[in-house]
Amino acid sequence: MKYTFAELHLHTAEVSGCASVSGADAPLIFKEQGYDLICVTDHYKYTTFWYYNDNKDPSWEHRANHFLSGYRLAKAAAEKIGLTVLLGAEICFDNCPNDYLVYGLNEEMIYKYPELYRWSVEEFSSFARKNQLFFAQAHPFRNQRMIRTSPSLLDGAEAYNTHDTEHKTPAEDMKRAKLWVKENNLVPLLGQDFHDAENILGAKTAFYGEVRDSETLTKKLHAKEFDFILSNQTITKEDFLTI
Ligand SMILES: [Zn+2]
Ligand SMILES: [Zn+2]
Repeated sequence: MKYTFAELHLHTAEVSGCASVSGADAPLIFKEQGYDLICVTDHYKYTTFWYYNDNKDPSWEHRANHFLSGYRLAKAAAEKIGLTVLLGAEICFDNCPNDYLVYGLNEEMIYKYPELYRWSVEEFSSFARKNQLFFAQAHPFRNQRMIRTSPSLLDGAEAYNTHDTEHKTPAEDMKRAKLWVKENNLVPLLGQDFHDAENILGAKTAFYGEVRDSETLTKKLHAKEFDFILSNQTITKEDFLTI
């Protein structure tokens, strides 16, 4: 079977203050490691935009351009080397300490719906369902700040975020993430939470067949049409949740 090898959790230095790799460089690194697809999920929260508070042009259009800048650099670089780049986001809502991964977004939506971080999780969840997005909680047990969202509001959650080790998440809490995803029948996600070049460990989501657009991506996520690659071994998502 033809797989599409993907990274679903990636930050660019242009937009995510915590990341060090430019959107222009990330595609080259991933291509070299055998990936076909990366989703740019830059942090989308109040602090992503605060540099613009004193700017002469504080319009949402200007801020949206900023949010999209890392994705656009990545897309332009990827086109030259045959890698697909899709737009995602890692949203943190103002009234909640959690992070949420969103797939299926397009540029028009970023301009059309300003300041999504001011929304509640419930509001965003119903928006995601209306717009066929895929809405997932990121690293639900990373630290004690994280609160598990009602699974009824989610499509999926990260069962494994390889960056948790850098956050010193205890191994038993990393295991609890898998168990929680399994018990609540959520779609399990695997993310390297790429911020720096050394975060690339070869973990991949292996989608069945071609994925070249956001619509196909969200469909395959909802339908669980993927396996995982860990340490160069293919593992089904079902087996992954039991180890
Ligand atoms: Zn970050
Ligand atoms: Zn992240």
